[in-house]
Amino acid sequence: MVNYKDLGLVNTREMFAKAVKGGYAIPAFNFNNMEQLQAIIQAAAETKSPVILQVSQGARNYANQTLLRYMAEGAVEYAKELGWEHPQIVLHLDHGDSFELCKSCVDMGFSSVMIDASSLPYEENIALTRKVVEYAHKYDVTVEAELGVLAGVEDEVSAEESHYTRPEEVIDFATRTGCDSLAISIGTSHGAYKFKPEQCTRDPKTGRLVPPPLAFNVLHEIEKKLPGFPIVLHGSSSVPQEYVDIINEHGGKLPDAVGIPEEQLREASKSAVCKINIDSDSRLAMTAAIRKVFDEKPGEFDPRKYLGPARDEMKKLYMHKIINVLGSDGKAE
Ligand SMILES: [Zn+2]
Repeated sequence: MVNYKDLGLVNTREMFAKAVKGGYAIPAFNFNNMEQLQAIIQAAAETKSPVILQVSQGARNYANQTLLRYMAEGAVEYAKELGWEHPQIVLHLDHGDSFELCKSCVDMGFSSVMIDASSLPYEENIALTRKVVEYAHKYDVTVEAELGVLAGVEDEVSAEESHYTRPEEVIDFATRTGCDSLAISIGTSHGAYKFKPEQCTRDPKTGRLVPPPLAFNVLHEIEKKLPGFPIVLHGSSSVPQEYVDIINEHGGKLPDAVGIPEEQLREASKSAVCKINIDSDSRLAMTAAIRKVFDEKPGEFDPRKYLGPARDEMKKLYMHKIINVLGSDGKAE
């Protein structure tokens, strides 16, 4: 049994309370390799932004849960080395699907876990979430739960159809589960293809897809029911078209990849939305940088020569999100 406090990590409680009051959101970046983690920590340290490191099921399968935990411990020390005196770093389990998995993460030093029982019937979602909360709170680990269903595929989380969170359920759900934050469905979705072309309109000038707007009315209704309660948005990559273009120009094939416009995420950050999950955008940044090197320097075979530029591009992306989209810079001095 390792407690996250001994690793220098923090839970989300105070972080979220400040974010809701301050009208900004905390970035939750997924990681599964060293370059990505370095880029996240460098960006957070430079901007003094609180940050959530997320470990998904795909990441656990790819890199091993224990190794990722030790990498997060190393990240705290690395942040201090970079001159961030009091780093505010959360290690979070993304989309935990069972009590056993959540418990194992609590036991090995995670400071926050998500139990995603949103695909279960309502009462079963409550029962499982409640069980995780009871265990996690014994160790002061915070718990994110989910109500509503997001569409899209990412790291083995998938659903064909989305349905919005029902505002009339949130008070009962939050009260009976005791969860610390709630992931809701208002039209975001997982992956780099968040909307089908038939759900979008097309900009006549650029030929690009324009996605349907998020359901801010649902968000505002939820906020009215649970004033000040921390809300989480999953599947909130913006799929920057400059990366899609670089990928497509250098031998890639991502036709009509589309995400959530950053202005809408900026708008959501000002509300009770205090955690925004971004994964696909860093995959795109990394892939764009690597494709460019491979295309322009076909003789290159030192991984550092293409993973290095990929790391720089991811760091640029993370800093942009922190400063221009979520507004969390300077909140963890
Ligand atoms: Zn998610």
